[in-house]
Amino acid sequence: MVVGDIETGVDLVVIGAGPGGYTAAIRGAQEGLDVLLVEKETIGGTCLNRGCIPAKALIHASKFHHSIQHWNKIGINAQCEPEEEINFGKIQEWKEKTVEKLNSGVKSILERENVEIMRGTARFIDESTIRVEEEHNAENVNFENAVIATGSQPLEIPGLEFDKDKVISSRELLNLEEVPDEIVVVGGGYIGMEAVTKLAKFGCTVKVVEAADRVLMNFQEDIVSRLSEVKPEYNDEIYTSAKAKEVKYEDDEAILIADKDGEEIELSGEYILVAAGRTPRPNLENLGLENTEVDISEDGFLEVDKTMRTSQDNIFAIGDITGNPMLAHKAYREGEVAGEVAAGKPSAFDNQYIPKAMYTDPEVGVVGLNPEEAEEKFEEVITGEFPFSASGRALTTNETNGFVRVIASGDGKLEGVQIVGPRASDMLSEATLALEMQAYLDDIANTIHAHPTFPEALAEACKDALDKSVHI
Ligand SMILES: Cc1cc2nc3c(=O)[nH]c(=O)nc-3n(C[C@H](O)[C@H](O)[C@H](O)COP(=O)(O)OP(=O)(O)OC[C@H]3O[C@@H](n4cnc5c(N)ncnc54)[C@H](O)[C@@H]3O)c2cc1C
Repeated sequence: MVVGDIETGVDLVVIGAGPGGYTAAIRGAQEGLDVLLVEKETIGGTCLNRGCIPAKALIHASKFHHSIQHWNKIGINAQCEPEEEINFGKIQEWKEKTVEKLNSGVKSILERENVEIMRGTARFIDESTIRVEEEHNAENVNFENAVIATGSQPLEIPGLEFDKDKVISSRELLNLEEVPDEIVVVGGGYIGMEAVTKLAKFGCTVKVVEAADRVLMNFQEDIVSRLSEVKPEYNDEIYTSAKAKEVKYEDDEAILIADKDGEEIELSGEYILVAAGRTPRPNLENLGLENTEVDISEDGFLEVDKTMRTSQDNIFAIGDITGNPMLAHKAYREGEVAGEVAAGKPSAFDNQYIPKAMYTDPEVGVVGLNPEEAEEKFEEVITGEFPFSASGRALTTNETNGFVRVIASGDGKLEGVQIVGPRASDMLSEATLALEMQAYLDDIANTIHAHPTFPEALAEACKDALDKSVHI
């Protein structure tokens, strides 16, 4: 018994205030439920505090810095002494302010919708009660329905355990006070390569160690080859087919020992970023699920149906905790569904397509089938491409590297879109909408796109697939 032990009851309790959890809480409250949102750290979860937002803010700053060379070429004299170019402390301050603005935005929406926020760590003590503990206080809360939205955390590799000082995860990376001279990145997935994007552009030498025979295995080779992150003229070194084994410490440096093609290599840096967890670890420990009927699947995540219900009827699960793809926008949609279903509304996660964006240089955006997957599924496949080097808009912004590729079945029905190029992440939305609406190539090709814009390239790629190209 803890001092201050009290008991309350609500319609809906949401555990975890990341993008999944706060969305479920807001939507549940909008549907008339009495909602309690429990968070042990910071409102906004991984995405807002140590993931999507701070990472993209730093990538923006690094690209901005890198583009100064272009300004000079087009007549804007932005020259200053190299040591004055980057005030990393100020950049970090600006990043923190960006996070804070979004944080207080989310908090004020939660307040407006009368969602009660409780600080502390929640665990189930039975199928209709959680216990929330924080330092010397504890409270039992009874609920009609609960949503588990506790997210995931980076996977630790044996031999490369995080020490938060030299062997770090993306969380510590985002809070570095200075740009390191050298860093070793273990893992050439999207989190590792986005780290390369920002660090290399700030002048850091980045050494990437990847166990597979190339980085970014989830993306087509001709897409990856466009990225400046893999270009030899860039200042990074990429070691593929290399298995990271252990870390040793020397003076102020950490040295990664890896096996490459049967030989031992040693790579040193001020930090070793471990970003190799293709599947981060779900936050299920100490959640008390053994006191409920919630089943954990073989791969350690929570299984849900289309209404986001777990095997226990009144307990829902959303976001990273339900497994891949672990993306904030998937968590948002699942949160909306869980909030609505908990309020008795006929809602379901029936989305067919989940877009994926990567904020490299240039950006990558993919949705739907890739060409190989389409070949396996359909007898006939049509593809079309449009290079950004032929886009008027791309020429005006000096961002001509990349292309849009569309993939369709033989009857012209759109099945997938792949974009590598400027604003690929933004352009994905039109592609995703088209796929969800079962669009055909000519639906997009004949839609008037404003000129000059980047999305014109999507329409042009569809025209190319239909052999009706005008601009190439
Ligand atoms: C570096 C990085 C970059 C990323 N970039 C992108 C991107 O560009 N686009 C994208 O879509 N996704 C990105 N992601 C992934 C994205 O952040 C996650 O998919 C998303 O945050 C998952 O949301 P969630 O609500 O499931 O969990 P989380 O955001 O992880 O939130 C879970 C919350 O639950 C809380 N919690 C856990 N256990 C308890 C408990 N027992 N009691 C109370 N509270 C608890 C945690 O403190 C946390 O705040 C990135 C991730 C990282 C690490």
